[in-house]
Amino acid sequence: MTPEELFTAALGLGRQWRVAQCRFEGEPKRLELRLEHVPGEHFECPQCKALCGVHDTIERRWRHLNFFQYRCELVAKVPRTWCRRDGVHQVQVPWAREGSGFTLLMEALVMLLSAEMPVDGMADLLQETDTRLWRVLIHYVEQAQARRDWSTVRRIAVDETSARRGHRYVTNVLDCDGTGLLLMVEGRSSEALGCFAQALREHGGDPAQIQAIAMDMSPAYLKGAAEHFPQAQIIFDKFHVMLLAGQALESVRRQLQHDGAELKGSLWSLRGNVWNLSAERQKQRRALCLQYTKLGRAMTLRETLQAIYASPDQVTAESQLNWWCGWALRSRLEPFRALAKTVRQHWEGILAYFNTGLTSAAIEAVNGIIQLAKRMARGFKNFIYFRTAAYLRAARLKFELPVIN
Ligand SMILES: [Zn+2]
Repeated sequence: MTPEELFTAALGLGRQWRVAQCRFEGEPKRLELRLEHVPGEHFECPQCKALCGVHDTIERRWRHLNFFQYRCELVAKVPRTWCRRDGVHQVQVPWAREGSGFTLLMEALVMLLSAEMPVDGMADLLQETDTRLWRVLIHYVEQAQARRDWSTVRRIAVDETSARRGHRYVTNVLDCDGTGLLLMVEGRSSEALGCFAQALREHGGDPAQIQAIAMDMSPAYLKGAAEHFPQAQIIFDKFHVMLLAGQALESVRRQLQHDGAELKGSLWSLRGNVWNLSAERQKQRRALCLQYTKLGRAMTLRETLQAIYASPDQVTAESQLNWWCGWALRSRLEPFRALAKTVRQHWEGILAYFNTGLTSAAIEAVNGIIQLAKRMARGFKNFIYFRTAAYLRAARLKFELPVIN
């Protein structure tokens, strides 16, 4: 067997193509495989599939999987068919997707690696530009996203994420019951929900099937829900209420610091739930709360609200929440007074959380993954990159790729 025959067999080129020449080229050395089609063959017209004669050929080049440590490229003069009906078209080659500069197996490798590393890491490893890698990711992610069936989605959550601190927001729509991120759209206006209603129809669903929407208390989302999902129950979920409580606590801390309290470096020991903190930070939290009584009061208010979310039923939750609002209003802590007012204004939606069996777990999980996706897309130069990274990580897509084995 000659090396050419060996590579022809290894590449699985089908009967129309063979490796005519293999050689090491350039510095650093790369393996170049020149392919040629069997002379006299007819090719399918890409439009109507009729067998047609060859009009002319165009030389093209594809990056393939490395050959040991060497970069490997396929080069071929690709025929263009002349079809009576459709005119001149370049034929489909069996090893690559139309318009791609990578072979299918190389693309499969890119997709495989993308599950493990950020795009700039892949670019280093593969010695490729990130633009070329993004093009592959975008193609497969959009293809898999387009094929998703949303006909069984019943309960969704709407959530905003800042793309970068302070500016440019995106809206995420997710399935509360398991399929992760459904849609990411730019902006956080009421139209974000209009976009989802439209996308739902395109994915085999109907806006009328949505029974509940979990969201934060932004008027824009409320308006969007009323317009596009009038039958859905609005739920202000635990995740978003606790986010507000965390922000109220942070306002109290900042005010104290502004008034001269020694709170430098306290941010992380005061944030989040005590059981997630190291022993050192738990100790620091206790000490600060004892030293600054306002901070102690704010912390107790936040933790009590958290505990109320463990209520066994809606009736219990309602009476406890009512009591909590009274306490917060008398607390002489302005941020918590404001929060109590907000809670009272959104009473029905907040209580709805307790009898729907909805949990915030899906929202928190997807939110965490999207933060990671932000890192994968490094700095969010481009909305499409960010959305692609988010779908890749959080949308449970099924890709149609050749198998590397
Ligand atoms: Zn044709």
